[in-house]
Amino acid sequence: MDQIDCVVIGAGVVGLAVARALALQGREVMVLEAADAIGTGTSSRNSEVIHAGIYYGEGSLKAGLCVQGKDLLYAYCAERGIGFSRCGKLIVATSDAQVAQLHVMMAKAAANGVHDLVLLTREQARALEPQLECVAAVHSPSTGIVDSHALMLALQGDLENAGGLVVLNSALAHAEFAQDAIVLVAKDGTELQANAVVNAAGLQAQALARRFAGLAAEFVPPSHYAKGSYFTLAGRSPFARLIYPVPEAAGLGVHLTIDLGGQAKFGPDVQWVSSPDDLVVDPARGDAFYAEVRKYWPELQDGALIPGYAGIRPKIQGPGEPARDFLIQGPAVHGVAGLVNLFGMESPGLTSALAIGEHVRRLLP
Ligand SMILES: Cc1cc2nc3c(=O)[nH]c(=O)nc-3n(C[C@H](O)[C@H](O)[C@H](O)COP(=O)(O)OP(=O)(O)OC[C@H]3O[C@@H](n4cnc5c(N)ncnc54)[C@H](O)[C@@H]3O)c2cc1C
Repeated sequence: MDQIDCVVIGAGVVGLAVARALALQGREVMVLEAADAIGTGTSSRNSEVIHAGIYYGEGSLKAGLCVQGKDLLYAYCAERGIGFSRCGKLIVATSDAQVAQLHVMMAKAAANGVHDLVLLTREQARALEPQLECVAAVHSPSTGIVDSHALMLALQGDLENAGGLVVLNSALAHAEFAQDAIVLVAKDGTELQANAVVNAAGLQAQALARRFAGLAAEFVPPSHYAKGSYFTLAGRSPFARLIYPVPEAAGLGVHLTIDLGGQAKFGPDVQWVSSPDDLVVDPARGDAFYAEVRKYWPELQDGALIPGYAGIRPKIQGPGEPARDFLIQGPAVHGVAGLVNLFGMESPGLTSALAIGEHVRRLLP
């Protein structure tokens, strides 16, 4: 049986960042990826936004890893020539009641170490974005966008330069964690022995962890799937910055993001689904977008929204339940030597990836 020091399951942005961090520490690392390419899961179905760290609870992993990850990511992109833009975003209140929410949000951001937010009047916001309609807005200058595919290729490059490798078309079927050895069994029957295993299987992380012999069931949270559909805008983007409404319960509201090519898209909305493979965009969902978007961009024309793509948030809480933090469990939590499980790696997982890599590395001395 082949032996390897560390095995990371899943070559999404989180798995690749973890693998890179372990490899740069001098460890031998193999990434097992079920698909025939890296980054085909949630990592290629998101908004590609570098979040500032505004929304998350004080002291949470999401807050800490997002703020830290944002700085690491901007520096990494600049160093490695990965496309990014620190374009900034406006969070807009479209009613007087929402202005109070902007103040709450600014206090929350400050508690998370985000001190660059600026409250704008309607006139100040419209001076920046003349087509914007709002009562007031918050400007976040450190929010940006990133080319997530170039980022993942750079992470893979660093991993390989440090002697690690990514093995595609290699789904892990199950694993056994015993005192003296960890044995991994791939779907084709291949067996591998490892000292450390990181479960970064995204939407499949809980299903996989349930097939880890030696891990108590109480350490595997339930799986819930909150699909988010995007609609692209025909024609030029009316805005130079990202435009976000005041956030909703399960997502950040139907916002406008721009990619590095200048294409604008709206979304993602929130639709609880029963399957992690339910990725088709229902054109009928666009109807609700028009009303939401016109609250802050009244000039949106009928027929301007074209169905785009969808991504699924890997939730560990169900509809109506309070938001939960990233659930990153190492041996100190579940008692299984050499194992780290990453559950609920929804937004801001892309922004946080480099910081998550460092965090997981520290859990596996
Ligand atoms: C709609 C939406 C919008 C988002 N927008 C943003 C944003 O703007 N900014 C931000 O910071 N974050 C955003 N996120 C969150 C971000 O996309 C995720 O946190 C991140 O992509 C998760 O990466 P991952 O590597 O954990 O998972 P994934 O990218 O899903 O990767 C998991 C990988 O594991 C593989 N796998 C699964 N099972 C197995 C197995 N048994 N064996 C081997 N491989 C396996 C899969 O094939 C997949 O490649 C968004 C998420 C969604 C859904």
